[in-house]
Amino acid sequence: MPPPLAKPVTPKPAAPAPAGSGVIASNDGVLAAAYGATSPDSGLVPLTLARRTPGADDVEIAIEFCGLCHSDVHAVRGEWGGQSWPLVPGHEIVGTVSRVGSAVTDFVPGDRVGVGCMVDSCRECESCLDGLEQYCENGMTATYGAVDRRNGGSLTQGGYSSSVVVDRRYVLRVPESLDPAAVAPLLCAGVTTFSPLRHFDVEEGDVVGVVGLGGLGHMGVKLAKAMGAKVVVFTTSESKVPAALELGADEVVLSRDEAAMDAANRTIDLIIDTVAAPHDLNPLFRTLRVDGALFQLGLPSEAMPPVNPRALIRRRIAYAGSLIGGIAETQEMLDFCAEHGVVADVEVVRADQLNEAYDRMVAGDVKYRFVLDTSTLQVPAKEADA
Ligand SMILES: [Zn+2]
Ligand SMILES: [Zn+2]
Repeated sequence: MPPPLAKPVTPKPAAPAPAGSGVIASNDGVLAAAYGATSPDSGLVPLTLARRTPGADDVEIAIEFCGLCHSDVHAVRGEWGGQSWPLVPGHEIVGTVSRVGSAVTDFVPGDRVGVGCMVDSCRECESCLDGLEQYCENGMTATYGAVDRRNGGSLTQGGYSSSVVVDRRYVLRVPESLDPAAVAPLLCAGVTTFSPLRHFDVEEGDVVGVVGLGGLGHMGVKLAKAMGAKVVVFTTSESKVPAALELGADEVVLSRDEAAMDAANRTIDLIIDTVAAPHDLNPLFRTLRVDGALFQLGLPSEAMPPVNPRALIRRRIAYAGSLIGGIAETQEMLDFCAEHGVVADVEVVRADQLNEAYDRMVAGDVKYRFVLDTSTLQVPAKEADA
């Protein structure tokens, strides 16, 4: 049995956890129920985590919902390598504040809050000082599977859990008007698509192309529409046409239909490409107008077909990438979603359905995001697994 990873920052007696929160308070921190993997082949199994007692700047969150992201599947199956075990995934976290540290003034118990893909960064480099913590020059601290640079070098463990403790600087305020289960995916899929749309200053009259209609793509459609853009979805599968229109897309182009792609020539201002499998971008570049841009958001594990510079040069097209968003921008996205009533389309699952949900996610059988209801987690064991 490994020692508990999380050590209390300021030893002080723990307040009793709120009733029904699924957490057990103790002077050494809190034992939290969780689901995670113990090896690349284990699948997801019940685990117990030791969460640290909140330090002065910490916010302890009783988690209500956590979205299931494709990255979680890659991580727990060891497909990206370099993983430590056990591993509790989850970086689309929504819950309520249960306790705060002595220096926390902007959150109080009972506040609805969220945590996305990062829980810390160096806070000193140019990126961090610019509010671009996701591009921290010293590496952001991911919400799970990362070495915690400030809490004794423990490994971070994610949101498939009854609670989590996060520094106040990386905690988001979740508007009360939005359904908390449907908000969860905004913390990764939402901000990943919001950030490039904002970076490009999308506004009314712009034409935005969204490539792929999964968790990211469906958020891209909703957010671009809410910004006033005309939205064109590019998909390879005819079966997704009605779903795209239902989400609010103005047009759907079957990207394997050459005539349809020709007709789309020079019609788009900005493309956000959410497909994580290798695919040819050159036909997409031809749909862009002069000064258009294509942001690639999906990260294929194999090489992509080469980009033809001619397509870029002839129309001054920018080919860019983008990674989630900074903390301030994530907050801006949540507030924007509250203003425009935007949330994800979700299917809420129980803890014992997680493995099946992973298989269905890999098969593309979800509209459009699974979300774990953490009230279905087991009672934590008396000793922590991690
Ligand atoms: Zn994610
Ligand atoms: Zn930094």
